[in-house]
Amino acid sequence: MTRYVYAFDEPSDGGRELLGGKGIGLAEMTQLGVPVPAGFTITTDACRAYLREGGVPEGLDAEIEEHIARLEEAAGKRFGDDTDPLLVSVRSGAAISMPGMMDTILNVGLNDVAVAGLARSTGNPAFAWDCYRRLIQMYGETVDDVSYDRTHLDVGDPERAAETLKAIYARETGAEFPQDVREQLRRAVVAVFESWNTPRAQVYRRTYDIPDDLGTAVNVVQMVFGNNGERSATGVSFTRNPATGEQGVYGEFLVNAQGEDVVAGIRTPQPLEEMQRVLPDAYEQLLDTMARLEQHYRDMQDVEFTVEDGRLYMLQTRSAKRTAAAAIKAAVDMTSEALISREEAIARIDPAQLDQLLHKRIDPSAAVDVAATGLNASPGAAVGAIVLDSPTAEERGKGEPVILVRWETSPDDFPGMKASVGILTAHGGLTSHAAVVARQIGTPCVTGCQGLEVDLEQRTVSLAGRTLREGDTITIDGADGRVIVGAAPLIEPEINEDFRTILDWADDVRRLSVRANADNPSEAEQAREFGAQGIGLCRTEHMFREGDRLAVVQEMILAADEDGRRAALDRLLPMQQGDFEGIFEVMAGLPVTVRLLDPPLHEFLRSLEDSPDPRIQSRIKALHEENPMLGTRGCRLGIQWPEIYEMLVRAIGRAARAVQERTGDAPLVEIMHPLVGFKEELRRLRDLTERVMDEEAPEIEYHCGTMIELPRAALRADEIAEVADFFSFGTNDLTQTTLGMSRDDAEGKFLTYYLEDGVLDQNPFETLDVDGVGDLMRIGVERGRSVKPELKTGICGEHGGEPRSVEFCHRLGLDYVSCSPYRVPLARLAAAQAVLKESHRAEYVAAGG
Ligand code: PEP
Ligand code: MG
Repeated sequence: MTRYVYAFDEPSDGGRELLGGKGIGLAEMTQLGVPVPAGFTITTDACRAYLREGGVPEGLDAEIEEHIARLEEAAGKRFGDDTDPLLVSVRSGAAISMPGMMDTILNVGLNDVAVAGLARSTGNPAFAWDCYRRLIQMYGETVDDVSYDRTHLDVGDPERAAETLKAIYARETGAEFPQDVREQLRRAVVAVFESWNTPRAQVYRRTYDIPDDLGTAVNVVQMVFGNNGERSATGVSFTRNPATGEQGVYGEFLVNAQGEDVVAGIRTPQPLEEMQRVLPDAYEQLLDTMARLEQHYRDMQDVEFTVEDGRLYMLQTRSAKRTAAAAIKAAVDMTSEALISREEAIARIDPAQLDQLLHKRIDPSAAVDVAATGLNASPGAAVGAIVLDSPTAEERGKGEPVILVRWETSPDDFPGMKASVGILTAHGGLTSHAAVVARQIGTPCVTGCQGLEVDLEQRTVSLAGRTLREGDTITIDGADGRVIVGAAPLIEPEINEDFRTILDWADDVRRLSVRANADNPSEAEQAREFGAQGIGLCRTEHMFREGDRLAVVQEMILAADEDGRRAALDRLLPMQQGDFEGIFEVMAGLPVTVRLLDPPLHEFLRSLEDSPDPRIQSRIKALHEENPMLGTRGCRLGIQWPEIYEMLVRAIGRAARAVQERTGDAPLVEIMHPLVGFKEELRRLRDLTERVMDEEAPEIEYHCGTMIELPRAALRADEIAEVADFFSFGTNDLTQTTLGMSRDDAEGKFLTYYLEDGVLDQNPFETLDVDGVGDLMRIGVERGRSVKPELKTGICGEHGGEPRSVEFCHRLGLDYVSCSPYRVPLARLAAAQAVLKESHRAEYVAAGG
């Protein structure tokens, strides 16, 4: 029969998957000899069995009973005893940490008789009743969905408070608060199992791609009390600063407080350093223990502890959630401390988290109107409209940037926090719910803003006396805690020294080249700044839309015949040449792939749709297509109206030549034809390309290739490769055409439903559909190289900057990935991790996410 329960001091083979993160931490700490209260873990197997069978699996009750007996033995106290009762906490703990998402119940084992026993044995009735009050509250809320009004929780006299809560419990549930402590325990365990499936936990799992079928473990731990006097305390701490990565412990604690008080932000905690003064011995022991744990795990830890009457107990240790900046600094520091290798340092950083570092800042030279200041809980600056609750944030956040402003946040606010560009709270410290979650999701956040008041009825907030309405614009700066009325000017981020170090290490490891998709010189410059090794996609149509060119482009499209088109194209030619020169100068010596005009022509005529001119109207009508993305676009345009592509090739040739003459260094030009499905298309366009390049720039070296963005092109890649020097997978269109899902319409419609309902795990426009689209890519590479082994291959769809897709491209043996300039650092890191993962040279742990 399956075994479901392990005591902390019993070894098990199941590891984190079986015992959950909290359970494995408690077991390892116990086995290391770190002071941990006694207890046991009910495995994730038990939770999965419960969720599958809809009931407690056979044998579990007996195992729990046996372990309670062992706990009683160890503690020298009895569960439900009326003189000196054993109390336990019942805490969730999944294999992958989901902070605050599932339930915890403290002080299980108290009833009307035991509370009196506890009062007598401790000589502290106020404490005993406070424990009972907390149990009735947490148990009611978690097990029986009772909602208590906040006013009932904060009454001064704990005995009265407990009685009031019991009365509410009885009224709401139709039954008295359970006096049978075994029933309490049994129902608490079931409630924790069930909390795996609360809506907020489900949203959280979708956000972090945590599988739905892991289930949570349940830890039953002997209670130790941080709330039984001035020599007791409870707190949380990191072994390094989780926002910056700086060395030195970083924590908060509260004297005479229990459990969730610190995390929930109900009382504002004190900085950990203060503990040295009030509880010096426990403080020293805590510091030693933290250092030991960091050495043992060789990673930054996040611990929870309680001091009971001067004695320290560790309640949890786990790899600390951290900002990207902290992850990088800690990884670089730990490498110099010889705690980890360079490869481990690379593997430790979650590439998806890096864009936090690429967050905007408030322009330091701007004069801003600072209305109030709070704590710098999560870095980055954000400008948005004030919203006062989670549903409003979700709704308005679809259409505009919003900042969620709350007194404090709770796990129920998670969807709204995700939908917001910034989070601001009046209450709570740097380890409050808002702060922890914001750092994780990389959203700028200011907490504990003293001057802030929120009036949910009037839908207004007051910032140091100034009244603002929901919808008014504010700016927050999560790096220094400033709250500003109105929209402050933001500036672009830079890469710091530690970040550069990690990326340099990554460059030494990776095989894939990383290029950028850039359409103008300033994007090209940004891309080089971030380490791009060339341009993988320059979309010429963006130049067609700039400034006064649109009118000339429209003239070209509206022309009745080839002569008319050529006249307009002649005027466009020098403008395009100028654009290319700018980009080529920035990218001198590096490859630049210029993709010839792609979108359907009528896209350029939108501004003329209401024109009264019948000639224009009839041309617009003639160009209209029901399915333009499958219509006259890409190389089909270039074949039907070769003069357009001729002009573009001419501009490229002339620009390359001009830059070569001016600077002595031209880029390696790659001319790329879009939407090719047939060899004959590319054969004709290659002829055109060669003819014009021979005329314009005979001495310039260039390559002529194609995008592979139609399934037919991938399948017939061997034929197409005969006339191509390179392939670049356009996975945006390849996804659209392989899946038959419109890239412009699917999101927000059925695809959103598919993702919510679990038909698909991932958005295929974000993360490459490896099994489908990826298989076509594999076929394309294999068949293309079968006739031309030296064929260069890359990817330039959005997936080129998504970590898992980058890993796939590495395994496929592509030569490069190309992505937006801001994702270049991320792609560099992901490409290095792909190598490490493949060769198992470092345990792949993306600790930050
Ligand atoms: C693609 O289709 O993947 C691509 C890069 O081209 P575009 O997005 O311009 O269609
Ligand atoms: Mg495309």
